[in-house]
Formats: sequence, C-alpha cells, structure tokens
Amino acid sequence: MADTAQANIGVIGMAVMGSNLARNLASREGNSVAIYNRSPEKTRAVTSEFPDAGFIASESIEDFVASLSSPRTAIIMVKAGAGTDAVINQLTEHFEPGDIIVDGGNALFTDTIRREKAVRETGINFVGAGISGGEEGALLGPSIMPGGSAEAWETLGPILKSIAAVAEGEPCVTHVGTDGAGHFVKMVHNGIEYADMQLIAEAYDLIRRGTGKTPAEIADIFAEWNTGELESYLIEITAEVLRQVDASTDKPLIDVILDQAGAKGTGAWTVQTALDLGIPVSGIAEAVFARSLSSKPAQRAAASTLPGPSSTWHVKDTDAFIEDVRQALYASKIIAYSQGFDEIVAGAEQYGWDIKKGDIAKIWRGGCIIRARFLNRITEAYDENPDLVALVTAPFFTEIVSAAQDSWRRIVAGAAQSGIPAPAFSSSLSYYDGLRADRLPAALVQGQRDFFGAHTYKRVDKEGTFHTLWSGDRSEVNAEDTH
Ligand code: NAP
Repeated sequence: MADTAQANIGVIGMAVMGSNLARNLASREGNSVAIYNRSPEKTRAVTSEFPDAGFIASESIEDFVASLSSPRTAIIMVKAGAGTDAVINQLTEHFEPGDIIVDGGNALFTDTIRREKAVRETGINFVGAGISGGEEGALLGPSIMPGGSAEAWETLGPILKSIAAVAEGEPCVTHVGTDGAGHFVKMVHNGIEYADMQLIAEAYDLIRRGTGKTPAEIADIFAEWNTGELESYLIEITAEVLRQVDASTDKPLIDVILDQAGAKGTGAWTVQTALDLGIPVSGIAEAVFARSLSSKPAQRAAASTLPGPSSTWHVKDTDAFIEDVRQALYASKIIAYSQGFDEIVAGAEQYGWDIKKGDIAKIWRGGCIIRARFLNRITEAYDENPDLVALVTAPFFTEIVSAAQDSWRRIVAGAAQSGIPAPAFSSSLSYYDGLRADRLPAALVQGQRDFFGAHTYKRVDKEGTFHTLWSGDRSEVNAEDTH
C-alpha cells in the first residue's frame, strides 16, 4: 500500500498501452510513477515483471491518489467510452482543484469537449491527449497530441516532452489547443493513416496485377521507394509484410491473409466529422469505404460473376509503369494530407482552437504511424504561409503534383479500363480536377434545386439571390424581393 505522496505522475489502466506508457515514464530521469488498474492482478503482474521501473503500485483508487504529489497528475489509459467516464468519476471524487486528469485513450473529441467542461467546473484540469504509435510507441516514444488548458500544459508539457518520440532533435508533442483539440487532431491523423494505407495497398495491387511480379519482388520495390521522397513508416512496413513467407504453407503471407479489412472506427469518425463540417475528405472516405466493401463476403460472392472488362492490362514497359504508380501514389498522398489539414482548419474554426498546422506536421514526424519524410515540407509550407487555403496549392506540392499528373492519369485510366479497383487513387484525382476547375457542374445542381424546391441561386454577373418561376412564365425574380 502506498503511504507517501511521492509519485509526480500516475497511470491508470495496466493493459498494453498503459503499462508501456508507465514504463516509458519510469525510464525518464526525474519521474516516479504511480500505477493502478481496476483488476489488481494486472497491477501486480506489471510490478513484478518490471521491478526496475520502481512503480508505486496501488490496489485502490484512494491509495493511488494518495501516492501522487501535488499537483496530482494522472494519465488514464483504459478502454475508451464508459471505462473512461468511470475512471474520471472516481478521480474527480478524490482530486483537488489544480490537479490534472489526462485521458490518453482514443476518445471521440466531442466526448473530450463534454468531459473537459464537466471536470473544469470542479477546478480540476482535464486534458484529452491523442497518443499515436501503438504499443511500441507508448514504450519507446509516441507522438502526443494534448488538448486542455494552458495551465495544465505548464505542468504536463515537460513530462510529455520527456516521453515523446524525438524527430530531428525535437520532441513530437505540442499543446494542440484547448479542450478536444488534441483528440480532434489525433482523429484526423488516423483518417490520413487510413488513406495512406489504402493508397499503398492500391499501388501494390496495381503492380501485382499489371506486371505479375511476386510479393517478394514488390517488397523490393517498396524498399527502394523508401529510400526516396516516399520514405515513411508505412512504406517500410509494407515491404516487410510483402516479404513475409507463411511457415505452414510456404506461400507469401499476403496470399493467405483473408482480404477483409477491419477497423476500430476512428476513420469513420474522421469522415462523419468532415461531413458535418462540409469538408470533402474524399480520399479518407474512400479508404474507409474500401475496408467496408472488403468486409462484405456475401455481396462480394454474389457479385463475383458480374462481367468485367474485355481485356487485362498489358504493361509493356514495366519500369515506366512502376514509376507511374509511384508518382500516382505520391500525388494521391498529398491530396489525402491536404484534405486532412482542411478538416483540421475547419475544426479549429468551428470549435475555436488556435491550431498551428506546421507544428502538427512536426509532431507527426516521429513516433506515429504516418511518420514520413515529406512532413517537413508541410511544416515549411505552413511556416511560409500560415493562411494557406489548401496544402496542395503550396508551391512545393503544386510542383510535385504537376510533375506527377500524367502518370496519375495513366494509372487511374488504366485501372478503370482493366477493371482494377483503385478508389483512393481515382477519387484523389477527381478531387484535384474538381478543385482546379474553372467552372463546375454545381451550376446545374443549383438550377435543379431551384426548379424543385425554389432553393434560389446566385448569378455570375450580378449581386443578389434569384429564383426562376419554373411553374409560371419562367421569368427570373430577385428572391430577396419576394421575402
Ligand atoms: P484496452 O483493451 O482498450 O482497455 C483495457 C483496459 O481498460 C484495462 O486496463 C481495463 O481494466 C480497463 N477498463 C475497461 N473498462 C473499465 C472500467 N469500466 N473501469 C476501469 N477500467 C476499465 O487497452 P489498450 O489497448 O491498452 O488501450 C488503452 C487506451 O489506449 C484505449 O482507449 C485505446 O483506444 C487507446 N489506444 C490504443 C492503442 C493501441 O495500439 N492499442 C493506440 C493508441 C491509443 P481491467 O484490467 O480491470 O479490465
């Protein structure tokens, strides 16, 4: 039983994420870490397995609270949802004004806004912190996206900086914004991760079907790409997965993994939130839908006899084709990030957060799943112009997309003609073409809306709001005059 308030930080939840984060904290100089888990067996197991961590373990919430020095700071790493609320309720009963509760789980940002508001009324600080990097990140250094008050950040900042991943000498953590800002940004991070994974999967599929190369040969291609501008954790692990051979069948592992992708919901949250904010995150949405489509075996079986194209893709110049795929992947990836940052901008505006986009790209450079070389370019783009209206319009990215667009179009057209699904590649290209279009058929949509619902329209040549009397003499009236 703990009887002295000697721990400067505590962790609640001793499943894989919480125990790894507690070990990470304990390994940093100056930290003394209190731990607690609802089921005491887990606390005992962690304490005995890692005696060097010097954990101050408690088997009751009262003892856990008593073991923390003031201001008490506790990081909750439990199952998101009801579990988080249960632990917050326990802590608020025992914590005092000025103490800090951190939720490091994958909470929906609107829950974090609600919880922050309720906890703040007690004088206790509540910080929703997105933590990315999975089990390994929690242990060795994650990318951390904390929200909450500036007061809480003062105490918490140095602790989080000590455990975060380090990229180019800088810790991958920053105070993202108030209340739910951290969990919002973590959600969009996950959405971008969905898009990036889907784009890589489409690139693999195109190369395999277009060239007949084996997974091991394609692994070499990804390993080669990882030495250039596409260098990233996801490209690196893709090569590892493709190279893996299944021990029981001696086949490439990729060929024995069931092709039905799972999801834990953060991608769907990103898309649902984007729909509410009116932000077209089409690449992310296609990635979420591609997983849904893959996981409908009955529909896929019923549709498997539907007719396909008359010819398959006859790639003549393999090297040129692979370079086309690489360029299409790079351009589509830029679109996914551009859309993700649009959502962050819109969220910041809607919820009143002062989010520094360049700093977000910086803290994603290490520890997290979407860490990539080109994130530095995003930081530079926002440093140069903090009010950039779309990332893809920054000179550096415009240049890449311009250079890639012929390849991108050949790949999307070829995929369509040969019946290879490439939803993320093609929706990214459509988004790009929509964004750069002088004129969109949205004018016709406005005409239709005015026809059936008198929803009115604006004109290109004069100010005002107009309506055509479709069921009358079809003359145009100034809609403002009719109200
Ligand atoms: P988890 O499987 O999500 O949750 C298990 C933990 O939650 C156990 O410690 C469990 O305690 C506790 N718990 C569940 N309901 C509770 C309740 N009503 N009251 C108190 N404790 C309760 O664990 P995890 O995978 O380590 O993840 C922890 C959090 O980190 C989650 O929010 C997850 O979304 C987030 N996260 C996970 C990853 C990852 O890669 N796994 C990455 C980033 C973020 P008992 O032992 O008593 O059941």
